[in-house]
Amino acid sequence: MTKDLYPLGEIPPVGEVPARMHAMVIRPERFGPPEKAMRPEVVETPRPGPGQVLVMVMAAGVNYNNVWAGQGQPVDVIAARTKLGDPTGFHIGGSDGAGVVWAIGAGVRHVAVGDHVILSPGQWDETAPDMRMYGDPGYSTSGLAWGYETNYGSFAQFCLVDDYQCHPKPTGLTWEMAACFLLTGATAYRQLCGWPPHVVTPGDPVLVWGGAGGLGSMAIQIVRRFGGRPVAVVSDESKYEYCLGLGAVGVVNRSHFDHWGRLPDVTDTAGYARWSRGARAFGQAVWEALGERVPPRIVFEHPGTDTMPTSLYLCAPSGMVVTCGGTSGYNGDIDLRFLWMRQKRLQGSHGANTRQFRAVVDLVAAGDIVPCLAGTASFAEIPWAHQLMYENRHPRGNQAVLVNAPTVGLRDLPAAAPAVG
Ligand code: NAP
Repeated sequence: MTKDLYPLGEIPPVGEVPARMHAMVIRPERFGPPEKAMRPEVVETPRPGPGQVLVMVMAAGVNYNNVWAGQGQPVDVIAARTKLGDPTGFHIGGSDGAGVVWAIGAGVRHVAVGDHVILSPGQWDETAPDMRMYGDPGYSTSGLAWGYETNYGSFAQFCLVDDYQCHPKPTGLTWEMAACFLLTGATAYRQLCGWPPHVVTPGDPVLVWGGAGGLGSMAIQIVRRFGGRPVAVVSDESKYEYCLGLGAVGVVNRSHFDHWGRLPDVTDTAGYARWSRGARAFGQAVWEALGERVPPRIVFEHPGTDTMPTSLYLCAPSGMVVTCGGTSGYNGDIDLRFLWMRQKRLQGSHGANTRQFRAVVDLVAAGDIVPCLAGTASFAEIPWAHQLMYENRHPRGNQAVLVNAPTVGLRDLPAAAPAVG
């Protein structure tokens, strides 16, 4: 007989979908820091609609998306969905995950119940006119961050994805390794390899902010993989070895400098001169780390307000600053003179397309880059793991949490669960 609810870690027979499931839930009345916003609850298990796949989640990855979702800032994702007719009134986050296909909706032909999959975190409408015209979800207004702008992410026993989000899990990876890297890895890959002619080529110096973070740890490896010379920036010398071990040619400690934040007005002569001195000194440190007095051809941005003025200043003439975030704020000031006189490019980048997601899975499967799994928490520790990230006290690299996997180190289902029917 089908059970109504399974405890976490107890795997139902393959294909059996219980009526309810355990989930880590955000509700508007709890918006705030992660430890306040996220609570375990039991909710109804969603059913896959046309083109959708229900995945039994073995492990999930921790990302900034659920920090933002829990704060209700910069977007109240629950209110946004309620407006579009979502009746749930809650958010189940989780934009990275790995698990087993448990049920498929009408029209799903290339994914089957029982497949072991890694989930990519982008959703879009494949029939949208702008998808058909331009062929890249990054250019489509239908693009959404799964487990952030959409409900039923990976912080629950079952999650709901579109079929194209399912990528074959490399058999050598444990569930927690498979769950932790794709969002950061593919975002970094698109930033570094997706904007020709500014793609990493052999010898290119590349400045990587947050080198020990989720994006940064993947970026260092990708730059190295394509022959570039990554210089990592961190805030603490204890992170040097980690970045060097991933392939950075040098590391700079940003806490030795204090010119961060918004650019002084160009009419504030003293303030602007102070900022220029700080930016030049930082540039000098980057040269020293690189071992050569050449500016970075690509600057890998995501901290935003604190670093953007320096990023644009340091970038090589005809080089590119490519950004995907604003951890320290969304006001990214630039002195336009550096942009036009040195003919630099300021490029936005968001998520990745299917080919880029798969390229990163393939790089990991081939052992060319590693997932940088820094730690694995339990399901109950999901709020705490996000709290550490919110406070920038989380471990280096990427973090995972176990959902249905009863223990770390598993690469398969714990015991062959009988198929239903
Ligand atoms: P993460 O693991 O927390 O790493 C970010 C790193 O940035 C930190 O380790 C920190 O390293 C550094 N940092 C923090 N504040 C900084 C500041 N004020 N100035 C300079 N560096 C600072 O986070 P992540 O997963 O890499 O994500 C980083 C950002 O990118 C987040 O805002 C996230 O939302 C965004 N993101 C966007 C996309 C997209 O598709 N648009 C995808 C992934 C992530 P140190 O303290 O050592 O310098």
